[in-house]
Amino acid sequence: MVRGTGMFVKIVMVTAWFLAAGEAHAITLVQDGKPAATIVVAASPTPAALLAAKELQYHVKEMTGAMLPVEHPGADTAAVAILVGESEATRKLGLRSEDFQSQEYLIRIQDGLIVLMGRDWQDTPANRLEVGSDMVHSLADTRDKVNYTAAVGWENAPADIIELPGILDDQGTCYATYDFLERFCDVRWYGPSLLNVVIPSARTLTVPPAEIRRRPSLLHRNAPGGGWPIIRKQWARHDGAQKDLFDRRMRFGGERWACNHSFASYRDRFLVKNPDAPQLWERSRPDFFAVGWENEGFWRQLCMTHPDLIEQVVQDARDYFDGKGVKGRQLACGDYFSVVPEDSDHWCKCQRCQAVLAPGKSRDIKHTFGTGTASDYVFGFVNAVAREVRKSHPDKYIATLAYHVYSYPPTFELESNVAVAPCVQLCYAYQKGVFENDANFYGQWIARSEGRKVYLWNYFHHPMERAILGGWKCFPCFMPDVISQWVKRYHEDGVRGFFLCGIPQQLDYYLYMQTAFNVDTDWTALVDEFFVRYFGAAAEPMKAFYYRIMQINREEGVLGTSPDASWGRLGTEQRMNELGALMDRAVALARTDVEKQRVATWKSGVWEYMLEGRTEYLQKQQ
Ligand SMILES: [Zn+2]
Repeated sequence: MVRGTGMFVKIVMVTAWFLAAGEAHAITLVQDGKPAATIVVAASPTPAALLAAKELQYHVKEMTGAMLPVEHPGADTAAVAILVGESEATRKLGLRSEDFQSQEYLIRIQDGLIVLMGRDWQDTPANRLEVGSDMVHSLADTRDKVNYTAAVGWENAPADIIELPGILDDQGTCYATYDFLERFCDVRWYGPSLLNVVIPSARTLTVPPAEIRRRPSLLHRNAPGGGWPIIRKQWARHDGAQKDLFDRRMRFGGERWACNHSFASYRDRFLVKNPDAPQLWERSRPDFFAVGWENEGFWRQLCMTHPDLIEQVVQDARDYFDGKGVKGRQLACGDYFSVVPEDSDHWCKCQRCQAVLAPGKSRDIKHTFGTGTASDYVFGFVNAVAREVRKSHPDKYIATLAYHVYSYPPTFELESNVAVAPCVQLCYAYQKGVFENDANFYGQWIARSEGRKVYLWNYFHHPMERAILGGWKCFPCFMPDVISQWVKRYHEDGVRGFFLCGIPQQLDYYLYMQTAFNVDTDWTALVDEFFVRYFGAAAEPMKAFYYRIMQINREEGVLGTSPDASWGRLGTEQRMNELGALMDRAVALARTDVEKQRVATWKSGVWEYMLEGRTEYLQKQQ
């Protein structure tokens, strides 16, 4: 049996119904350090099954010392079979990848057999031709090639170059395998580096019977980043391949959807021929562009009431849905074509646009980012495009954001084929004022969105992004309670997924992604477990350090978004002494080399970053 009894109790509860049925027997994969099971994959596995088989083999080896052999169906073996991905062997059981819904997966531990499989993207020429992108990368570009043995630290093993499943490709077999490794083998991935991975030691690995068939709670889980000051240190030394692998382990990606400002290339297509991108030029249509803002460059808005412009955007969407690709930096993915103005409120000053905008002035909210002053204007444009596109492509969607001066719903109904993503600043949840407004417009969207595809742009960028842009260092904010509460609420509200904008720190990011994958995740249990399993003997002061930072933000009800807020309000001398004492105690208590290294990542990443921030603040004060 594996270490970590707390986890084991939960597993038994999950499978209790099955045990009650009788004939349930635990299955042994490794006995006294010797392999007792064989991994079985198809002769030509999907990219997901190939990765899943390697990941299973690697983690069991690191855990027990036993290298489970990988065979193809039909091989002569007396050992327990672990069927990874669809193969002849699963088809004999009536289990086919195509019978699963997108992202659905199965963990079956039953009758001396383990099945780990789900819906997988198939590597066919037609599938490789599909056009689309997440916020940044094309579908093809996310099928990263990595040297697997180097990425997992098996430096003496021969190079093993594999193509990872693209983050928006179905990879149910990977989900099954990662969920199996977490639930039944107690493996944890707290970051991309080898130091971040927690694998228990056990000479014998036995797993109880189970039947888990499910989809992730939120279907789109997109959260790029990791380069900001604190998390960069916490994630320790790692390379790009290890980050790529970590993304799969976190089950980053999912449903094909993307949405962001989408008209950056209109200038190159219809206003000025760009010598760096002459292929984008189509014809001169200066009347497409916002009147009165002639010097705006690529940010220049469009004249969004112009019938010819609307017709052009409709044509762009139809071309995409007809497989003709996208133009320039137009964003589109799967069944979604993004229609969102550029990032400013410099709207067209023509009479027709101004007539639509004028009544919106009454919807302003003073000193607040998210209002409804341009909601009717922007969503009127989105609606006009959606109405036309639905005539030719009734099962496709126009993806848009509810953002800035169009955060609130319009005064009219949105077309049924508009998928909307409110932009909610969850990072302000402890700050009085700001978040109430975001929660308010979010609630209005949900109340009006029955049957609608709703996604979320979730900000987690402040205070860190402010500090980075301003060249100073902030008092950080940790908020596991808020993350848990809101991700669960998104699920209850039928939100399909999120783009997480800004990932400032290790544990909150981990909690967010784990809760999005499975909303049954209990945040206090997850946080407790993290500190015990990650820091060992130093767990108690490290946890106190984390919770104290969280409490300080809550006590003050502000976020450290300015040097004064960070070091005048939050990180006072007394509090810094208190936090410093906790960190000193953690350093003193850390016992093993790994514990010491992990404490060091937080000491330099969080604590010394804070010390420098306060010191620089005091120096400027003098
Ligand atoms: Zn106009």
